[in-house]
Amino acid sequence: MSTNVDFLVLGSGIAGLSYALKVCKFGKVALITKKSDTESNTNHAQGGIASVTSLDDSFGLHIQDTLVAGAGLCKEDAVEVLVKEGPGHVRELIELGVRFSKERLPNGEERFALGREGGHSRRRILHADDLTGKEIERALVVQAKREENIRLFEHDFAVDLITTRRPNGELVCCGAYVLDTETEEVTAFRAKVTMLATGGCGRVYLHTTNPVIATGDGVAMAYRAGAEIENMEFIQFHPTCLYHPEARSFLISEAVRGEGGILRLANGSTFMENYHKMNCLAPRDIVARAIDAELKKSGAECVYLDVTHLDAERVKSRFPNIYGKCLSVGIDITKELIPIVPAAHYSCGGVRTNLMAESSIKRLYACGEVACTGVHGANRLASNSLLEALVFAHRAAKDAERHISGWACDSLVDYDKSSHVNIVNRKTVTSLADRVHQLMWRYVGIVRTNERLETAETELADIAKDVENLYKAGCLSAELIELRNIVTVAGLIIGSALSRKESRGLNYNLDYPQPDDTNCKRDTVLIKT
Ligand SMILES: Cc1cc2nc3c(=O)[nH]c(=O)nc-3n(C[C@H](O)[C@H](O)[C@H](O)COP(=O)(O)OP(=O)(O)OC[C@H]3O[C@@H](n4cnc5c(N)ncnc54)[C@H](O)[C@@H]3O)c2cc1C
Repeated sequence: MSTNVDFLVLGSGIAGLSYALKVCKFGKVALITKKSDTESNTNHAQGGIASVTSLDDSFGLHIQDTLVAGAGLCKEDAVEVLVKEGPGHVRELIELGVRFSKERLPNGEERFALGREGGHSRRRILHADDLTGKEIERALVVQAKREENIRLFEHDFAVDLITTRRPNGELVCCGAYVLDTETEEVTAFRAKVTMLATGGCGRVYLHTTNPVIATGDGVAMAYRAGAEIENMEFIQFHPTCLYHPEARSFLISEAVRGEGGILRLANGSTFMENYHKMNCLAPRDIVARAIDAELKKSGAECVYLDVTHLDAERVKSRFPNIYGKCLSVGIDITKELIPIVPAAHYSCGGVRTNLMAESSIKRLYACGEVACTGVHGANRLASNSLLEALVFAHRAAKDAERHISGWACDSLVDYDKSSHVNIVNRKTVTSLADRVHQLMWRYVGIVRTNERLETAETELADIAKDVENLYKAGCLSAELIELRNIVTVAGLIIGSALSRKESRGLNYNLDYPQPDDTNCKRDTVLIKT
């Protein structure tokens, strides 16, 4: 079965939706999403979106903050694009109906309330209480559903990209194979332009703040298709994710420590004073590393965040979402300690793109967390990722218009499902996925060593063989495809981390504890051979 569209968009987070809303002015859009429309990392973003909007701020300062966080690996032209074009696109969001929080000044005037987060030298974070992503996603979905040229396919799962090689040797993308998870049919979507907007890969790890959709599908598909994949070793870990069997991926915002929350071990003692002079308010990566070290030392499963000494009413009013969520799993944070672990949060690397968001495969664009535009370098500045998705979605749309006329891929083969016949036991898939989660957490987490990375590489190779055999013969299902993708992405993270012989930004390796500007200040690029 096949179908033709002008623009194929894989993913319905901020990146996919923003892009679809622009390109629908030029042609027909198929917007494919593997769950329901709003299920995305975007929907979980709490803090907000960074943008220069106040008089005491400047493009220069935001650029500088981003470069400092990126630890020498940001692409400066991409950062400049991000910062300078960002405010215009944030304004478009507001015009679309996104309701950012406002505050009233003493003179009665109203203005947007600007938050400040770690690494930002000014207040510049627009937010909608602590549910910014949900508000952005809501407004974008409403608008997308109004557009006649956008057709939304929910519960449709992109399996693989379709590419062809032109006589001049150029690799060109002409669409994707998509599994309808309800009918189990695979359709070949033939498209003049394909946009990968499938988000991040936190679900490669045991502990993550990411929702279940974040299995790195876009990076895995692009890698299999022959695209360049960049800087996958730079995985950002958030220090405080709720540790509870019924709420595994719930983020406890850094603002809780900002308000006086204290990190403690199970015996009640504090430990951050041994790691940084700023104690519990040390930078995100330092706190994550300190917790990791304490967990490894004690063998405990979690540490605790304590807000019981703070005014209970203040805690409830300042953090209604966190208070409510914890209470729903039986923890009254005004009276009890919050069990927390660091967790995989954000992938700075991804499908390598140019400044117009085009990948190394022609007519294949990538945008949002799946992409590596170069703006984050070796570490992401908080609240720059929603902005990046927005800015580069618009750039991609502008560039993609030129592909609407002219060449279209004419030879397209249907997906060959003939070998996918065996019923796959769900438990087998879960247990293989669990092995990947465990080994990534144990050996490829916050603190790495060559030995741990090599162990991970060997163990993953074993798992990969089993998974490939299972995949080749097994009936296609979302779980099986995701398992195959997390194995691919885990391999890319391990391979990238092994090739970086230094510690820089988020890649911390005890065998090379310092950055090495002379030999290693470069991007890691992997391509399937
Ligand atoms: C808890 C949390 C808090 C955060 N807070 C902030 C913040 O305050 N500020 C900030 O800037 N960033 C924040 N981030 C990061 C930010 O939310 C993400 O980087 C950003 O939303 C990514 O947007 P995206 O459109 O690229 O991907 P997503 O929003 O994740 O969307 C990906 C889409 O692709 C779909 N998809 C995936 N695979 C397939 C497939 N194979 N086939 C079809 N569809 C597929 C998914 O279903 C989804 O619709 C936070 C992230 C988390 C998890």
